[in-house]
Amino acid sequence: MKKRTLCLGDDSGHSVDLCLWDLKAEEESSYIQERIDSGVQPIICVKGGKVSDYNGKSLSAIGVSTILIEPEMEAVADLREWMTLYYNITNFIHLSTSSSRQTVSCTTTLSEISNMQLKVLKSSPIYRVIATVKEMKTNEFYYNACINVMNAWQCGKKTSRTADGWFCSYCNIESANMEFKYALKMCIEDSSSHVWAIAFQEAAQEIVGIPAKKLATMRDENYPTFSLHIDVTRNLQKQIK
Ligand SMILES: [Zn+2]
Repeated sequence: MKKRTLCLGDDSGHSVDLCLWDLKAEEESSYIQERIDSGVQPIICVKGGKVSDYNGKSLSAIGVSTILIEPEMEAVADLREWMTLYYNITNFIHLSTSSSRQTVSCTTTLSEISNMQLKVLKSSPIYRVIATVKEMKTNEFYYNACINVMNAWQCGKKTSRTADGWFCSYCNIESANMEFKYALKMCIEDSSSHVWAIAFQEAAQEIVGIPAKKLATMRDENYPTFSLHIDVTRNLQKQIK
């Protein structure tokens, strides 16, 4: 029996393993591999995939699953746009623990990292740098995440404001509420170089010290406290994975 494992990443800053079996492993994955070899990261949609919760979350394409490669959809266009801007600077949090992502490879410098070709790989190594937060973008540091739960997994995609609530184009539903999630753009610096990076939810909260919603409320209601908090966060020396 043939098995291929792909690693999928999206604009939530997370990546997950997708297992393809038999015919799907041969047909779809060889086409996907061709695209990757030619330097294009294909966008795929998986419908009816099985979510497994063993050793972290992973996906399997089973008999009833459909895999669409680059379908004509608004969500695909949105993701392509996101990839153009952020793919190369996103350090994906891998949800499947089957790979070796948990092991921190080594401590390195930003200039060495800039020279590496970091991509979404199954065994994408994690590097640790000791750096200072030099600058943060404080105008847009969070997004309105979808709270819809499917297969025990929160969607978490960016929603758009409607008259009555928040619409998610992935789930195609409108919710009355959303969740504030960090997508904090910041410039980090060490003695070798500096680089712009995006800190997502867990990482950003660790750096800033408070949840995105609290920081947003602080900005709207008490700007002096907000800018003081930002100043303290800047120049914090952190080990950044
Ligand atoms: Zn959603």
